[in-house]
Amino acid sequence: MTPITAEHAREQVAAVVEEIVASTPVSDIHTHLYDPAFGELLLWGVDELLTYHYLVAEAFRYFDMPFEKFWAMPKSRQAELIWNALFIQNSPISESCRGVLTTLNALGIEVRKRDLNAIRNWFSEWTAEDYITRCLELANVSTVCMTNSPFDDLERPVWERGFKRDQRFTAALRIDPLLLAWEASAPQLAKWGYAVTPDLNAKTVSEVRRFLEDWTKRMNARFLMVSLPPDFRFPAQDDCAQLIEKAVVPHCRDFGLPFALMPGVVRQVNPGLRLAGDGIGLTDLTALKNLCAAFPDTKFAATVLARENQHELCVLARKFRNLHIFGCWWFLNNPSLIDEITRMRIEMLGLSVTPQHSDARVLDQVIYKWQHSRRVIASVLTEKYGDLAATGWTPTRGEIERDVKKLFGGSFDEFCALNLR
Ligand SMILES: [Zn+2]
Repeated sequence: MTPITAEHAREQVAAVVEEIVASTPVSDIHTHLYDPAFGELLLWGVDELLTYHYLVAEAFRYFDMPFEKFWAMPKSRQAELIWNALFIQNSPISESCRGVLTTLNALGIEVRKRDLNAIRNWFSEWTAEDYITRCLELANVSTVCMTNSPFDDLERPVWERGFKRDQRFTAALRIDPLLLAWEASAPQLAKWGYAVTPDLNAKTVSEVRRFLEDWTKRMNARFLMVSLPPDFRFPAQDDCAQLIEKAVVPHCRDFGLPFALMPGVVRQVNPGLRLAGDGIGLTDLTALKNLCAAFPDTKFAATVLARENQHELCVLARKFRNLHIFGCWWFLNNPSLIDEITRMRIEMLGLSVTPQHSDARVLDQVIYKWQHSRRVIASVLTEKYGDLAATGWTPTRGEIERDVKKLFGGSFDEFCALNLR
């Protein structure tokens, strides 16, 4: 009998891990996609892929024109200019550009012809309904969680009217304007029938809670979420911290829902770029630590934008079981960084994390985001199981399947179901 060498064990593990990672469906816990009932709010197709804000920012590295001239053009013309700058005049080797090609290739489109109009013709054959099914199948995604804002004038009427939910789309209640622009949001709430005043007195707090309750129920929200600037502080006397303490935390505790924080975005570093103009900043995670420590019976989820915050975030999650960390988004959504961050999270937290969410803004992006991330996650897991196998602890197929399910949404489900009260 040949002895099983460490090298041999690793090779055996690699093939099994790759197969299981590819075949395990993902529950994508944060996207900017919409249930088809929202109609035009669900973006899809090649022009949307090309005018994604990641690509807009990259194209302006090469463009020689004023911002406003670009924004005045129809979307199809913007897409053509981006295609020309990022795919024809230069090789599309950035991660965002590669993502477009991974997506088109997976759909069966011959990208090597470099023919944008032929690609557009291919898309014109599809209906949204069929295309959703095709994309989710190709990405092997079972459910996508939307980002739903009662403050969005296009979105709100659809919720108020009511619609038959597509079971593949779950909801998350996004409350940025409530927390970050209370002065403007208070009159809005008042207009919608909530007896609030700009002053955060007891009556106003109870009305804000009624607002959160109404929308949580209307959407059947899985969690509440906010994206925060890097200088977010807690505890503090400002409106944001006071609303979190007095309204959002008690609401989440009573409903057993996580409050997801996404700190690190600096809005409009370059306003000329519009949606592509936001930047990044290092977050002082003391605020998150204070929240987790002050409210041990409330669940917090967090994904932080700065690479430099990732290690501290892992340490925080080791200290607080009411904190779940997830995803590598936006400026972190690059293979080298996903590799580094996923490895660190698994080394420090085992399987009690959600390594990735797609953050897709265009439906088709779920294909590339998950294909690229699956590859990185499989390689990290192969290394980790290989290290175990070298000790004689060879993981069984069933154990690997169980673990991958956790990383692909199962851990987050367990966290949501956790009773901390
Ligand atoms: Zn997002």
